[in-house]
Amino acid sequence: MNELLKNTILIVDDEKSNFALLTHVLGEKYTVYTAKDGASAIEKATELTPDLILLNIFMPDMSGYDVLGALKKQDATREIPIIFITNNSSAEEEEEALSYNAVDYICKPLRPNIVKLRVRSQIRIVNQIRTIERLSMTDQLTEIPNRRSFDSRISMEWRRAIREKTSISLLMLDVDRFKAYNDAYGHQQGDMVLKAVAQSIESDLKRPGDFAARWGGEEFVALLANTDLNGALEVAERIRANIEKLNITNEKCSNTPPITISIGVECQTPDHNASLSKFISAADHALYQAKAAGRNRVCKAASSPENR
Ligand code: GH3
Ligand code: MG
Ligand code: MG
Repeated sequence: MNELLKNTILIVDDEKSNFALLTHVLGEKYTVYTAKDGASAIEKATELTPDLILLNIFMPDMSGYDVLGALKKQDATREIPIIFITNNSSAEEEEEALSYNAVDYICKPLRPNIVKLRVRSQIRIVNQIRTIERLSMTDQLTEIPNRRSFDSRISMEWRRAIREKTSISLLMLDVDRFKAYNDAYGHQQGDMVLKAVAQSIESDLKRPGDFAARWGGEEFVALLANTDLNGALEVAERIRANIEKLNITNEKCSNTPPITISIGVECQTPDHNASLSKFISAADHALYQAKAAGRNRVCKAASSPENR
């Protein structure tokens, strides 16, 4: 299997023999990382965010319980499932381990097949959760991120912009006179156009901080982190021009021009008093201005820096 597609496991154990055994048993199917003590386990888990951690409870410097406690306190590592490994097979110890929110518990001496099967069921759960998360964040028709995904992304980027005192820009995009196209060609053909528009918008966003989503209906949004007004207007104009270039014509309706898009742009460098909902409303308002001014154009919000 392609190394990049393999699930990753961090094995934390101070005993060399267990290390070798676990790496041997799991190394073929998974990418295995190792740590020999609690401190380096926390460091590696934070840096690598593995899909699963196998954690020995009894280690000299820091117990597995302490390592788990530290990992559950950090956002980056909180959700990583942990299987405890222990020498003690008593029911009390097992109950205690599971009460710490470990997902499973394996006793030594380790039996390779039991380790494999227990790891396999946890990895299956991890992968299923990921699939569900991905589907819940993706718009089924256009296959770009959906409104839910946008809401979570914008609140994260908004907080980051406040923290780092950087500018953030928002583009609100709406397909022009789309009802006429749907009425002429039917919804299925209309859906194909929405797909093409979504792909075109996405392909015009080049930076890692750029993010496009379907807002709903024939409306889209693009969030440009760390981007000033001029940069945002440039991106918006590129998106507008490239959609015009798709040249999706409505030949069934005379006097109807090819499919175009109107775009409203807002840019802010927010502080703690700034309102995210006002930021979104400003971009929306700019979109209405673009519509009112004749469509197929980019308008900046009246409250954007250059207009203040
Ligand atoms: P405007 O330039 O003012 O935006 O005009 P418009 O016709 O695009 O706007 P209006 O709000 O009147 O109509 C939007 C249309 O978008 C209505 C509907 O036919 C179409 N639409 C919305 N969602 C979908 C969808 O998921 N699939 C398809 N095929 N059409 C959709
Ligand atoms: Mg609309
Ligand atoms: Mg429209």
